[in-house]
Amino acid sequence: MSRDKAIATPSQTKMYLAKYGFTFKKSLGQNFIIDVNVLTNILKAAGVTKDTGAIEIGPGMGALTEQLALHSENVLAFEIDQRLAPILSDTLADYSNISIVYHDVLKADLQKIITQHFKPNQRLKLVANLPYYVTTPIITKLLMAHLPLESITVMIQKEVADRMAAQPNSKSYGSLSIAIQYYATAQVVLNVPKTVFMPQPNVDSSVLHLTYREEPAVHVEDESSFFALVQASFGQRRKTLRNNLSRHFKGRYDKDAIEAKLRSAGIDGTRRAESLSITEFAHLANQFTT
Ligand code: SAM
Repeated sequence: MSRDKAIATPSQTKMYLAKYGFTFKKSLGQNFIIDVNVLTNILKAAGVTKDTGAIEIGPGMGALTEQLALHSENVLAFEIDQRLAPILSDTLADYSNISIVYHDVLKADLQKIITQHFKPNQRLKLVANLPYYVTTPIITKLLMAHLPLESITVMIQKEVADRMAAQPNSKSYGSLSIAIQYYATAQVVLNVPKTVFMPQPNVDSSVLHLTYREEPAVHVEDESSFFALVQASFGQRRKTLRNNLSRHFKGRYDKDAIEAKLRSAGIDGTRRAESLSITEFAHLANQFTT
């Protein structure tokens, strides 16, 4: 069953704000969507269908949750702000396929809650308009937790989406691109103007679509030393790889040893980190762990 009017309109949003005297908390990244077309495009990009289950982070007033309930089989949402409970009970009263867990998603045992909520082998997609202050920790948690999700489609700050999906030799390419693309393929699928939010954020937004890889993109002997080496390589972007690595390995490997490792990996130490592919970083990191 659906309501006469979508929640995601300026007039409905204002009406519920007034009815419950709700005030936005900037510290919780509360920017609600007031445009149904944007939501329809997000759902299309996510590939949500009646035979998929949907997981949402931060339902807010229920704008996206409602569309997910209409177009997927069932919805599980995590919301940190208890003040939204009476509003969501009202806005989503017509839908029987939504469960809301009032919990900080970063502290929740996602594996356990997902297993309790969905039937085994249910196709699951995560779709959200994320709170921007915790975008990276949330996405990192979702990628590292080995959850039974097919994909993650999230609206986030444009600059962060560009960095997550960036390829070598671009301005946005960095350690975040590699951390994300180690676990998933990443694509920016939509740019979204500020005007579709209430209140309007200060930054532009994009929708990022991530598809889990069955195996990490590259084989590394030791994940934490790989990620540490990648981060250090981008430490001072304008400096050569050789320089950044010398700083990183100070006291552990001298310049000659580093040069020898670079040679064995077939990488010229005068290159800058932004020109290295994830495969090259993996070869290089493995030289230091074997
Ligand atoms: N989905 C709604 C929409 O699109 O209109 C609201 C999106 S708003 C950008 C982000 C939502 O995430 C807010 O409702 C906020 O209270 C919630 N939130 C913030 N931090 C959270 C956390 N750590 N865990 C769960 N929800 C969180």
